[in-house]
Amino acid sequence: MSYLKIDSIQKVYQNDKPAIVDFSLEIPRGQIVSLVGESGSGKSTLLRIIAGLENKNSGEVFLGEERILTPKEKLVPGYDEIQLVFQEYHLYPNSTVEENIGRPLIQYEKEYKKQRINQLLNLLGLVEFRDKLPRQLSGGQQQKVAIGRALSLEPQVILLDEPFSSLDTIQRRELIVELKAIFRKLEVTVIFVTHDLDDALQMTETLVVMQKGKLIQKGSPEAIFEKPKNLYAAKLFSHLNPVSQKPKTYIRPSDVLLFKSAGTAAKVIDKQYLVHYNQLTVQFSNGSEWKVEDKKRVFAVGDRLYLQWDKAKEISF
Ligand code: ADP
Ligand code: MG
Repeated sequence: MSYLKIDSIQKVYQNDKPAIVDFSLEIPRGQIVSLVGESGSGKSTLLRIIAGLENKNSGEVFLGEERILTPKEKLVPGYDEIQLVFQEYHLYPNSTVEENIGRPLIQYEKEYKKQRINQLLNLLGLVEFRDKLPRQLSGGQQQKVAIGRALSLEPQVILLDEPFSSLDTIQRRELIVELKAIFRKLEVTVIFVTHDLDDALQMTETLVVMQKGKLIQKGSPEAIFEKPKNLYAAKLFSHLNPVSQKPKTYIRPSDVLLFKSAGTAAKVIDKQYLVHYNQLTVQFSNGSEWKVEDKKRVFAVGDRLYLQWDKAKEISF
């Protein structure tokens, strides 16, 4: 059953090309979806529309049976049930962790408020930091406080707009794994926006690829990897080598096999050490270049080698 329903959203900012183009997406309750797209593809606009914080030209958003009203239609825009979390934490610098998390609960009964804050501090592993000020915390901890604050009103939907971009890779990966478990436990529906595919894959099994305001593809990472709808979706996962004589046909570096004889001849012109292989840049006699993976790390710059690949692995658009 779909819970969050985004139906044919169209959004044009004044005198501009459309930011969101006929965008539809249905997400079941409790599902975590990662929305991937390059900068300017309309991700933030879409999240703000879903949260009821941005007007749209047409289309509707539904949360269950409830139609989400736009700022034009609602005196106080936005919904407690739908919380948006950004990269900038917007924590109150002179308030403690506990006070920051409890801020949205201001009109609630004291006893409930206390209990809810304790619950969240436990859930987020922040109990020992409850009396600390934001500046006494690491970036990852600050972002957890921001998420705790977003969770305080027991939202049904959490929209994460590139919330971890300012954290280093290790902090980010740890936080994503931790939050994923928390979201699952709370059965909250999540849209995680990122331009980083690896982050997206850490968070979820369902990917949505967005480009120039349009939904390009939705599915499991495997499905999109194997049958990408366009070049952009394909390139999220890896570099693509153009196959000569075959327009709009490509092969992934990981699908090219390297030999010392037999195959298409090429010359190694660059070598880059990566964690699982050496990435080679090879050049053909016609001057065109490919990236390939030397898993055994046997080739050096200047070497000749021969390439072979399974035609079935070629990707055509
Ligand atoms: P993303 O979050 O994927 O980077 P945005 O939703 O921020 O994309 O932006 C999508 C497009 O809409 C961009 O072309 C951007 O310049 C434009 N845009 C975003 N916000 C505004 C605004 N408030 N006024 C005018 N144009 C905007
Ligand atoms: Mg954005």
